[in-house]
Amino acid sequence: MSDFSCPRCGNGQHEEGFVEDGGQGSQGALRWISGPLRRGPMGGARRMGRQRWEVEAWRCTGCGRLELYAREQA
Ligand SMILES: [Zn+2]
Repeated sequence: MSDFSCPRCGNGQHEEGFVEDGGQGSQGALRWISGPLRRGPMGGARRMGRQRWEVEAWRCTGCGRLELYAREQA
């Protein structure tokens, strides 16, 4: 999936990657969680029972704009 044009500069070349999450206890990659954010008593996001998706990030080689996609369940 790299055959799309950048909505900002119209360039058709995109480089695949992902957005790193270096937070404590993270598994290294950003994930998208379905449903609105709810916080638990310790201030952390509650994600029990929610679906998680891996986030792909395609970087436009022309202007650097990122396109994010969540297509694979984590
Ligand atoms: Zn661009």
